[in-house]
Amino acid sequence: MGRFEGRVVAITGAARGIGLSAAERFAAEGASVAVIDLDGSAAAEAAGSLPLTEGARAIGIGADVASSPDVDKAVARTVDELGGIHVLMNNAGITRDNLLFKMSEDDWDQVMDVHLKGAFLMTRAVQAHFVAQRHGKVVNLSSISALGNRGQANYAAAKMGVQGLTRTLAIELGPFGVNVNAIAPGFIATEMTDATAARLGLTVEEFREGVASSNPIGRVGGPADIAAAAAFLASDEASYITGQTLYVDGGQTVA
Ligand code: NAP
Repeated sequence: MGRFEGRVVAITGAARGIGLSAAERFAAEGASVAVIDLDGSAAAEAAGSLPLTEGARAIGIGADVASSPDVDKAVARTVDELGGIHVLMNNAGITRDNLLFKMSEDDWDQVMDVHLKGAFLMTRAVQAHFVAQRHGKVVNLSSISALGNRGQANYAAAKMGVQGLTRTLAIELGPFGVNVNAIAPGFIATEMTDATAARLGLTVEEFREGVASSNPIGRVGGPADIAAAAAFLASDEASYITGQTLYVDGGQTVA
């Protein structure tokens, strides 16, 4: 029996990258999955590709996590069409990297809106369901960039903000049977890091090799590394863990 049989998992930004890998992992372990992404057709296509187990279902929902009406509709559709909600993975993300003197107000606002406001709006929308059923799991995506990273003042601030949000919601929701944790990935090979390579004037291979040689594990991460951590934190095995940020980075931040 899968760890998520009978559970409904909603994942934002799940049409590709880490979110899609997590959707595949939760589906393979028995969950029904709501794939939420800006691009509704990409979300539907991803939902259709999941390795669902018998009796489980998946839907794709087009929504902007920074829009309160979109978020409320996405959560309502998840509950109506999949029969409830038990796990929320706040994964949607963007980068708008620049050194401070070149960073526009729009770069700042967009990154804050997607990562921080998005996680706030999504969690606020699911909490009524989680509290009523005295059960729920929230997994937020932070980043090792929260500790500081040149060219990412907006992203680093948002990702450290996600850690503060995680700790605070763990305090508020713990008494209602809700666990709130975060994952701070190091370098994970996705379109997001490919775009960073281009910004730095490196090929994808050069960028990945440089990162691999700078961490103790000696390789870059893949989306499945984060999916495995998310599945653990969202499982009943992690019921005594809350308010934590788990660094999944090949040891980069301890080297
Ligand atoms: P990705 O490949 O760029 O995927 C991000 C997904 O989020 C895309 O499908 C994107 O949709 C969607 N999205 C963006 N803005 C959205 C919005 N407003 N509402 C709904 N969906 C939205 O990124 P990833 O590498 O998988 O990263 C996933 C998460 O992990 C992010 O929070 C990221 O910050 C975090 N993270 C990644 C790394 C890494 O090395 N990759 C490291 C640390 C943390 P569109 O394609 O339509 O834009």
